[in-house]
Amino acid sequence: MDTPLQDLKAMLPAELDELVSELGQPAYRTQQILDWLYVKGVREIAQMSNLSKSLRSLLSERMRITSLLEVDRQESATGEAVKFLFELPTGQRVESVLIVDGDRRTVCLSSQVGCPLDCKFCATGRMGLIANLQAGQIVDQLLQVSLYARERGERVTNVVMMGMGEPLLNYDQVVRALKLMRLQEGLGLGGRKITVSTAGYVPGIRKLVAEDLNVGLAISLNATTDEIREKLMPINRKYKIADLLEAARDFFDRRGYRVTFEYVLMAGLTDSDEDALRLAKLTRDTPCKINLIPYNELEEDGLYRRPSRRRLDQFYRLLRDSGTEFTVRESRGRDIDAACGQLYHQQEKVRAAL
Ligand code: SF4
Repeated sequence: MDTPLQDLKAMLPAELDELVSELGQPAYRTQQILDWLYVKGVREIAQMSNLSKSLRSLLSERMRITSLLEVDRQESATGEAVKFLFELPTGQRVESVLIVDGDRRTVCLSSQVGCPLDCKFCATGRMGLIANLQAGQIVDQLLQVSLYARERGERVTNVVMMGMGEPLLNYDQVVRALKLMRLQEGLGLGGRKITVSTAGYVPGIRKLVAEDLNVGLAISLNATTDEIREKLMPINRKYKIADLLEAARDFFDRRGYRVTFEYVLMAGLTDSDEDALRLAKLTRDTPCKINLIPYNELEEDGLYRRPSRRRLDQFYRLLRDSGTEFTVRESRGRDIDAACGQLYHQQEKVRAAL
């Protein structure tokens, strides 16, 4: 039986070094290959024209280059967001979004096709888990969006793992992808320019804390009681709010910077005076940033609604009076692809996490 070809795009430099040396090649070949992959963005080994023909053919016997097929691209009328739809060889599709915010160009990447966590306000959650993405498929989303940005004379400055899927449930592939994104000889995104967003998978947070990887962390909190959080996010049955706060403190102790808590304000569910006071109390002893995201009225579906202006102002006032620092990301209206129910929230969450 033929050995399956390995993905060149998923290889770390030390692994490439090993490969290059196995093939009897000088060490500088590693840099040349990285350059072809991440700077020039080639899709075929045959295109690596400064490698000898014999080396290209040796490489092709063992390796391939993952390249997702872009099947759709939508630009918002305001120019604030561009959504990419990519197809995997299996025919499944994932989304990535480029978000423009001042000088920042942030790419929101997917880590899974679908998601097993079934958060009740999330379209992806309704799909269930269909597949985990491979590291090369995660990196390729970034690469293709970066090449698009470059064509516009822009440069991607930030990455958030906040698209489809729970990144910490595809841990090994996501961490490998994060390491590849950070390579100075490749895509070159410094650690703090990358944020991993989780629904609160605590074992994954603990692993990430111990990792030699300098990335930011955002946790979707979205409620101040376990009872409500459990209704919105079933993962809370296992990992409670107290566990998240403890993990956030641990993250700060070990990493030296604060976790971002995202909190979506939904009428009658998460926006009461008691919620504001509890949020202040819960986070008082945890070094963190709080981002409040009023539910977007354009996504109101009967179950979840945006709080009234008065209610929002009251919530903010109570938090402020209790000495809690926070930022608010206000809706500016979704003007891109009604089929993508998550996109607007993604944009707001992404901005909030920065
Ligand atoms: S919000 Fe995130 S973690 Fe929750 S179901 Fe959707 S993709 Fe999964």
